[in-house]
Amino acid sequence: MSAHTFDVQGDRCPFMPVFGAPQVMFARGSGTELWDVDGKRYLDFLGGLAVISLGHSNPVIADAICEQARTLMHVSNLFANPVATEAAQMVNALLREATGEAGQTFFCNSGAEANEAAMKLARKFGGRGRHVVVSAYGSFHGRTLAALAATGQPAKHEPFFPMPEGFRHVAFGDLEALQAAIDPSVGAVLIETVQGEGGVMPAPDGYLRGIRDLCDERGMLMIIDEVQTGFARTGRWFGFQHHDVVPDVVTMAKAMGNGFPVGAVWARLDVASAFQPGDHGSTYSGTAIATAAVRAVINEMRRIDAPALSAAKGAYLSAKLAATPGVDSVRGQGLLLAAELADGRDAKVAYAALLQRGLVTNAVTGTALRLAPPITVSHAEIDEAVAMIAEVLA
Ligand SMILES: *Cc1c(COP(=O)(O)O)cnc(C)c1O
Repeated sequence: MSAHTFDVQGDRCPFMPVFGAPQVMFARGSGTELWDVDGKRYLDFLGGLAVISLGHSNPVIADAICEQARTLMHVSNLFANPVATEAAQMVNALLREATGEAGQTFFCNSGAEANEAAMKLARKFGGRGRHVVVSAYGSFHGRTLAALAATGQPAKHEPFFPMPEGFRHVAFGDLEALQAAIDPSVGAVLIETVQGEGGVMPAPDGYLRGIRDLCDERGMLMIIDEVQTGFARTGRWFGFQHHDVVPDVVTMAKAMGNGFPVGAVWARLDVASAFQPGDHGSTYSGTAIATAAVRAVINEMRRIDAPALSAAKGAYLSAKLAATPGVDSVRGQGLLLAAELADGRDAKVAYAALLQRGLVTNAVTGTALRLAPPITVSHAEIDEAVAMIAEVLA
């Protein structure tokens, strides 16, 4: 362990002990590269958990944030600011292109908050008695109480019982189980198109279409959690575009700020209008500094055609991984991939050996490595990363 990291249980650790002991302390990043405090170079094939899609310290995003910081950071929601207005119009335009629907956006600060807002919106839209949200086992929707309640991982609930009411879980990919869980109290289905934290598990063919049909039949909202899959990660702007469905509500965060903390929920106009003044809010909703990052990210992603890049780089990485001895199979879409290791290899051991060699990945399950490098990753960097993976698995 580096002299610059610390024992999380030690009484000199400045942080509450909610995260595992860090193995490396990073000081600097550029593009796909990171340097630790000792000056050692790494390739970042995790992208800060699918956040750094335009690369570390992207100069376009950095300039936009710096310039906004010198112009106007924040004015509160008692007043408008031109940056948030433009950024919301840009998010609405992206979702209009993806869904064909006009809609409205609420900005927040994280993925969990985006899901909180979406679930409050669903309760308001559904009315009293239609408050239940059904989501999938294996899902991840965030750590605040309601987002945690929606998260389909019972072990994460247990220390915090009792959970808020109005949440049900069904097996991911099983339409019959979903159908059986629906009664008149259910107002919304909340679903990921690829379960990211759950092991990079893409929704099976026809599943999202089936949910859409069920939502239409029963008058429920279809809320898609695009916090990890959104903003070109899967090779389309949004993961649902792979499935030919139009959601009613979309939540997003992670790559939306390329590292600046920001999230949003978008809803079709008639759904969004269920919210009235006073129903929801956040001090930092639409704050100028965060929305300057969003505006710069969308402009830059459009300029480089991030979805096409993600699809092309993802296909290249996926094919190279699949041909690597020690990799059993590769799953995922675009640049949200998992390599399932062969012959019971331990992903935690592989992760640690890769980190030692200078490659950042994540053991997303006991036997699979998650790879989510910046979309700006080069072919040479992919070759270098796959060579390290091949060495470690040999
Ligand atoms: C990361 C993630 C969240 C939570 O986002 P935070 O910004 O950590 O609150 C929610 N949903 C999905 C699908 C995620 O991957």
